[in-house]
Amino acid sequence: MNILPGETVYSWFIRYHAVTGEAPASILRRFSGKSKTRIHPYLPCYINKLSDFTSLDRNKLLMENTLYPLIAFYRSGEQKKLIKAAMFDDDASKVNRCSLLSSNQFPFPFVNNVCPLCYRADIKEKGFPILHVEHQVSGINVCPHHNIYLSRISLRTSGNSDLSMLSGIRISSFTPKKAEIKLSEFSFGLISNLKMVKERDFDIIKKYKELLSEEFISKNGCVIKNKRIMQRLFNYYQEMFSLSDVSEIIRFSGNHFLSPIFDKNKSYCQHPFKHLLFSNWLMESSSQYFSDISKEEISCRNRSARASNKDKKPLRNILLCEKVWEMAENGTHRAEIAKAFNISLGYTEQIISSKTGLVERRKKIKKNVIRKNYRQVIKNYLRSHPDCMRKNVKKDCSKQFYWCYLYDQLWLYTVLPRPKKKKKNPRVNWEKRDSDILLKLPKIIAQSRNKITWSSLDRALGGHGWLLKKRNMLPDTVRYIVDNGIIQINKEKGID
Ligand SMILES: [Zn+2]
Repeated sequence: MNILPGETVYSWFIRYHAVTGEAPASILRRFSGKSKTRIHPYLPCYINKLSDFTSLDRNKLLMENTLYPLIAFYRSGEQKKLIKAAMFDDDASKVNRCSLLSSNQFPFPFVNNVCPLCYRADIKEKGFPILHVEHQVSGINVCPHHNIYLSRISLRTSGNSDLSMLSGIRISSFTPKKAEIKLSEFSFGLISNLKMVKERDFDIIKKYKELLSEEFISKNGCVIKNKRIMQRLFNYYQEMFSLSDVSEIIRFSGNHFLSPIFDKNKSYCQHPFKHLLFSNWLMESSSQYFSDISKEEISCRNRSARASNKDKKPLRNILLCEKVWEMAENGTHRAEIAKAFNISLGYTEQIISSKTGLVERRKKIKKNVIRKNYRQVIKNYLRSHPDCMRKNVKKDCSKQFYWCYLYDQLWLYTVLPRPKKKKKNPRVNWEKRDSDILLKLPKIIAQSRNKITWSSLDRALGGHGWLLKKRNMLPDTVRYIVDNGIIQINKEKGID
């Protein structure tokens, strides 16, 4: 059983338990050597064993199925190596230590997050629900796809639970605040970008300084105006204060919130959520982290603004756009693209339609693919039925036949068998038919219980319409009927 792109390792474990029926303790013993253990929601161990089990590359699992890319992004090169090694060595406590996530300053609960609407969509699309990595970022409370609050599920001892337990989760009646939605989209955008860029060391402080306007930094870049930034930051997140832990983090950390971020010795030891809060306030989108593509992002934004209406999400993620366009140019189905990047179908369509001419080019590609496939079906049929007639092709390959008849008629007529001339039926011997009917009539009349009409007699003779349309060819029959008064003839209308 494979782990899906963007699915958490914990989710895979409970899905495996649900599918195979193997006891959770037994599964855990095979992976961890213990019958009870806790699987981290986003920095799990057992990557190597899962890699062996699913035949997926362990580095791919690390990048796709954990939040390692996001956590490592805010760590120094040495720290990254330690976290990765600890995850590969199944050393959960070392992972915790190296990732510096268990800071007292950020008391995030140990939970798995689930979006009620993503849960339903998964059941509809895949037939089962999964837990998504992008929902597990500490401090992010909103689903980036549905803009609703995530539900928290405390599953301290893993393996004991079943995802179907979550079927009762309800959509929160509270509407997320704008700042929360923007923060969630920022985090999601960053995770998507990081999956696509090569792992390298970013000079985060340099980037922050570049993006700070003169209002917040001196001209030579040496003095950061902490107080002013904190005031703005506080105001920016103020609307979230009553609802989440964010306010507490900013409020209580006060001046200690910002200065370590700009300190070379401390910046890479800060909780990732602190960087997320700051960079989300500072940047329009997470792609601003990657300056080498900033120009393209601007053109993407312009294209997106032209192509999309107000309801649509802005295309924040240029790296994602580029990848989606590349696949779209090759004619990949949009559902496959959405699955590959773990984004919604609607968002995929929005990205595709934002590139001029791409939709038309895709239509052409699609038509060519259909033409090629349908031609092949018809050719195969003709090869296996050398004596067939046109009507056989029409009947047995009707879908392909009619499509080609509409869009590829010239080709169709070159391959179809030549129409065979209709054989004329030998002349009907009406005299014999007349006498045959005459022989049958007395019995039919004797058995008839209802009023006798031309139609009822014709039906009794097999419904060929001879007594309705060809009476003049059956003189003896008609005479017998009329002379015996079986049917009253309207003389004015007459009969032959
Ligand atoms: Zn959702």
